[in-house]
Amino acid sequence: MQSAVSSPAPGWLAVPDDADDLVPAVWPASAERGPDGELIIGGVSADALVRTYGTPLQVIDEGEVRRRASGIRAAFDTAAAANGTTARVYYAGKALLNTTIVRWVMEEGLNLDVCTGGELEVALAGGADAARLGFHGNNKSVAELERAVEVGVGTIVIDSEIEIERLAAIVARTGASQRVMLRVNSGVHAETHDFLATAHEDQKFGTALDSAPGLVARIREIEGLDFVGLHCHIGSQIFGVAGFRESAARVLDLHQELLAGGDIPELNLGGGFGIAYTRVDTPEPIENLAEGIVSAVAEGCAARGISIPALSFEPGRAIVGNAGITLYEVGTIKDVALENGSRRYVSVDGGMSDNARPALYGAEFSARLAARLGDADPVLVRVVGRHCESGDIVVDHEYLPGDVAPGDLLAVAATGAYCAPLSSNYNHVPRPPIVAVNGGESRVIVRGESLSDLLARDAGIER
Ligand code: PLP
Repeated sequence: MQSAVSSPAPGWLAVPDDADDLVPAVWPASAERGPDGELIIGGVSADALVRTYGTPLQVIDEGEVRRRASGIRAAFDTAAAANGTTARVYYAGKALLNTTIVRWVMEEGLNLDVCTGGELEVALAGGADAARLGFHGNNKSVAELERAVEVGVGTIVIDSEIEIERLAAIVARTGASQRVMLRVNSGVHAETHDFLATAHEDQKFGTALDSAPGLVARIREIEGLDFVGLHCHIGSQIFGVAGFRESAARVLDLHQELLAGGDIPELNLGGGFGIAYTRVDTPEPIENLAEGIVSAVAEGCAARGISIPALSFEPGRAIVGNAGITLYEVGTIKDVALENGSRRYVSVDGGMSDNARPALYGAEFSARLAARLGDADPVLVRVVGRHCESGDIVVDHEYLPGDVAPGDLLAVAATGAYCAPLSSNYNHVPRPPIVAVNGGESRVIVRGESLSDLLARDAGIER
């Protein structure tokens, strides 16, 4: 075994006793090892999936998505009822959106948050009731806003002064009545284990707290716009309730001030609940988070002598992240000698085109052999893709059995959120299919791209 002292492994990554184990918080609850050590998810073995659909392959466990969606809804319902209010959960479609997912989350009683005209059309194509949609975005076009108003989107979250005037013109022209919220920037920005609180946040979303009263007054003047409340989203992959508490306190001060101008029935505190990507990530159970956040709002309202509004939340990653895995075939392997040890580079047949998160954010993931158990001590590996970028990393730091070899099947966990939506055709690599598994069955929910798809937009080809 490698000694931790001479290893280039980061401090948080210990040599595992078993480099084939499936850490429960990271993998879907259905993940298990079959009789020959093969990984099984949703009752279907990884090697059977790959025989049918090839690699790379994005697999999504329907049962896990539904369990998490209904669990989050129940947790917020319970917390809200205990604190004298109601809660609505919007699934943040940006995490992973296709018509099948739309149906799953709608059937589990969730609402849906979309942030572009494209996401809106996917939601509608999936049969979403427009009244259960929220529409976000810092640069919604006039055409997108017109379409949202026309189809009857439940709530449009206004992000800027310009958008107020765009909507004012649309409702004046069409005579429609539209529920709107205003997105504010609480100055609290949460990043995993820590949060920052500043007077003004230097980012593009929302409006500053001190400019909100003027904007809300303008919205309230417009016949056809129904101001229902404030919206605030403080970041993503957040652990703990401290950032939410601080942000809610700041937004409640504004909410209280705005009550002087009329009733405000709702408050949306966004999403961002963190998940486990590696064995050292220990997210709070959703029941604790829900109770912690909702009770903070209830206490804040009681302290200000105001009634608690109906609450909404917008989790994306916490619903689909751990429900997805990606299967790759190992291609080449090389050992690179370093001053403090060595690192084994394991190349797979996908990479930053199907998972841009390590390159974009330095995100960490976990990987396991998927068709067999290992037969050698763990070695430190870096799983890399097939693209012409040295930053094309799939799993930056992991221990795999030392006999990992070309032709092995590798599963990367927790790729259900922000992987397919951020995928590209970099280096003209086709995007993989998305296959849903459940109860021993599998089916394609998004087909993979073919080489002819890749050539289809090239206007220089004579047809
Ligand atoms: N709501 C808004 C406004 C967002 O911008 C995001 C993510 O960027 C989300 C919800 C979902 O965040 P998460 O997937 O971390 O829960």
